[in-house]
Amino acid sequence: MNSLLISLFWRLIIIVLTLSVWSILISCATPEAHSSSPIFGLAIHGGAGTILKKNMTPEKEAAYRAKLEEALTVGYKILQSGGSSLDAVEKTIHILEDSPLFNAGKGAVFTNAETNELDASIMDGKTLNAGAVAGVKHIKNPISVARLVMEKSKHVMMSGDGAEIFAKQFDVEFVEPGYFHTKHRWNQLQKKKKEESEKGEAVSSLDHDGTEGNIDQDSKFGTVGVVALDQNGNLAAGTSTGGMTNKRWGRIGDSPVIGAGTYADNNTCAVSATGHGEYFIRLAVAHDISAMMAHKAVSLAEAANHVIMNKLEALGGTGGVIAIDKNGNIAMPFNTKGMYRGYVDNNGEMVVKIYKE
Ligand code: ASP
Repeated sequence: MNSLLISLFWRLIIIVLTLSVWSILISCATPEAHSSSPIFGLAIHGGAGTILKKNMTPEKEAAYRAKLEEALTVGYKILQSGGSSLDAVEKTIHILEDSPLFNAGKGAVFTNAETNELDASIMDGKTLNAGAVAGVKHIKNPISVARLVMEKSKHVMMSGDGAEIFAKQFDVEFVEPGYFHTKHRWNQLQKKKKEESEKGEAVSSLDHDGTEGNIDQDSKFGTVGVVALDQNGNLAAGTSTGGMTNKRWGRIGDSPVIGAGTYADNNTCAVSATGHGEYFIRLAVAHDISAMMAHKAVSLAEAANHVIMNKLEALGGTGGVIAIDKNGNIAMPFNTKGMYRGYVDNNGEMVVKIYKE
């Protein structure tokens, strides 16, 4: 009798221990698997490229981290208080557009003509409505005009002077072109032009980080993007950029192209891209990730990894995406050395990363 009781006691202990281990494992399995509801979340990027620790000063790294955390906090507060994913995307992008650290808004790169021409787009996953602007020169926060195009016009995309005339009807902040002049970007353009005259050919170039090496192997992109899931289950995505240093002939990249740099669909996911835009346009990267989820019933991580690590890589393109699905799962694959990125979940758990880790 005694030995039966002892054996029962030990069995009970083993069952209790097994159950506890399982519940710990489940709660740690994914960053978004914490059990409290409702589910919401937000992910951001500040560009991908050859971002190496050896080229970074501790001060510079701290500045990037602090700005990414500030942006995540703004988005988190909107979502936590029940705000919409569209508001979270727009307001979070404002923080990054207003910082000289990123190639968007204030920190936009220079064109060959020594101007700054900005592109942005936004998409609402609930309605599949979308808005975009390309090549605007006097708008402090292009993401907001992209949203106005989506909400206050019958169009999806407006460019150049026309987009600015449209924006004048609304309470939009206009700035003189000098607002976008930063020494860092100016020096990048001069360097690019020197390379071009030495090579005797057009170097339609990436956002070089000013360190050693050639442009293809040592380049980075500073575009910014945000994807969000709100408490009502609505997804949204937005992207904003200055494009590529030394761009000319009115070159437009993927960032304002719906389906290439930005896409959102409540049935699948929200995606924002950064990288060598021409490749992202050719592969319709953002839409392709959503389409894989819709038609092949694969997970967000599988779809995003496949498109970036296999398809983009095979074509010779570089860059990455941030993406969130309707359940709050987050994927952030990239095939460059680094990508400024981060996410926050409904528990307020914030993660910011820069390098491949
Ligand atoms: N994708 C952007 C472009 O090609 C550049 C970037 O991501 O920084 O215009």
